[in-house]
Amino acid sequence: MKVYKTSLLAQCDSEVARIIQLETERQTNTINLVASENHAHPSVLEAQSCLLTDKYAEGYPKHRYYGGCIYADAIETLAIERAKKLFQAEHANVQPHSGSQANMAAYSALLEHGDTVMGLDLSHGGHLTHGSKVNFSGRWYNFIFYGVNAKTEMLDYDEIEKLALACKPKLIVAGASAYPRTIDFERFSYIAHRVGAKLLADMAHIAGMVAAGLHPSPVPYAEVVTSTTQKTLRGPRGGFILCNEDLASAIDAAVFPGIQGGPAMHIIAAKAVCFYQAMQPEFIDYQLSILRNAKVLAAELQNYGMRIISGGTDNHIVLVDLSPRGISGKEAEEALEAAGILVNRNTIPFDPKPPHLTSGIRLGTPALTTRGFGVEEMKHIAALITKVIFHPGDERIQKQVCQEVKEMCQRFPIPGVAGEYTKGSING
Ligand SMILES: *Cc1c(COP(=O)(O)O)cnc(C)c1O
Repeated sequence: MKVYKTSLLAQCDSEVARIIQLETERQTNTINLVASENHAHPSVLEAQSCLLTDKYAEGYPKHRYYGGCIYADAIETLAIERAKKLFQAEHANVQPHSGSQANMAAYSALLEHGDTVMGLDLSHGGHLTHGSKVNFSGRWYNFIFYGVNAKTEMLDYDEIEKLALACKPKLIVAGASAYPRTIDFERFSYIAHRVGAKLLADMAHIAGMVAAGLHPSPVPYAEVVTSTTQKTLRGPRGGFILCNEDLASAIDAAVFPGIQGGPAMHIIAAKAVCFYQAMQPEFIDYQLSILRNAKVLAAELQNYGMRIISGGTDNHIVLVDLSPRGISGKEAEEALEAAGILVNRNTIPFDPKPPHLTSGIRLGTPALTTRGFGVEEMKHIAALITKVIFHPGDERIQKQVCQEVKEMCQRFPIPGVAGEYTKGSING
């Protein structure tokens, strides 16, 4: 197997090259259903391996604390302009090193320590940075959690409104890491404004669909929008923040010098490539395929007798409740991994099991869709997943499924890994 650009590395450092080679083989031979992962296009990888990694450019375009920033300015300005155009935002900050740093900067621009904030309960699909006790967010701010309705397993906006009226938050965070349904940002903004709060929309998971116009955009409704670039948006590992002009200087100051030093200019170059790709008509086809694949996966699993949280999916995520099968998320995750299928254990709403065990698994279709897996493959994968989960201790079945997984994976190479830089690999 050919590895992307490691021949020099293999000569200079065979230990690192060998591990990268093994990781490439692992990814190639695995059915990756981790909802937060994707495969960046080889042009994104090329941009993020360029010499801009060497450049210090603390500050912002035209206001740097280092010389020699002429091209750093050019690339960051391009990334900013593309982000603004793609999401129709007044202002963009493309410097956050990650989604978590984007949230940290947004909070520090909008809040004082101790302020009350509302966020989605972690066990109902929220993110660590939405108030978890083991995260800075939960330690520095007074988070009050809203959840999903016990019956529908969907966000209950009437309950969210009641809670907001009762706890008078300064900020409401809307966004999730494991919520399979459309988020009504308009309704969230109505609730926030009714109680005098600001709205922060964290679209880390759904940014690709928002860019393609396939999920309602939070940009018209939220004072601040944070995101990652590496998930459905299929860019490099990183974050960005969108807001209106009135908050622009507060957000920029919160990122730098607030919480970061020099920006990762090579990653900003790769973000610019990612924003450009997300403007192309093929990107809409890609996002449509993600959605179609997720719908088929959910329906097929349901046909096999699995309970799907909320009864289905509107996005790239399928949450499976394993409790009727008497197996934990941890057991399912491990059995599936032994069979070459990667998912992650996930709490389900009102989960009686702790986070290291969980009653559910989270599946997502962005990475497989990038490789070109389609509806027929989703049906096949649903059958394989069911087989493994219904016989969690059966190593013979796991071995047999592993072989089928390998054969399927060989037909759908990761873009760039097999040396195919065709346009088709952008389309996924
Ligand atoms: C993934 C995610 C983040 C954090 O992104 P990192 O880049 O891993 O720090 C923040 N918010 C949500 C909702 C996420 O899903």
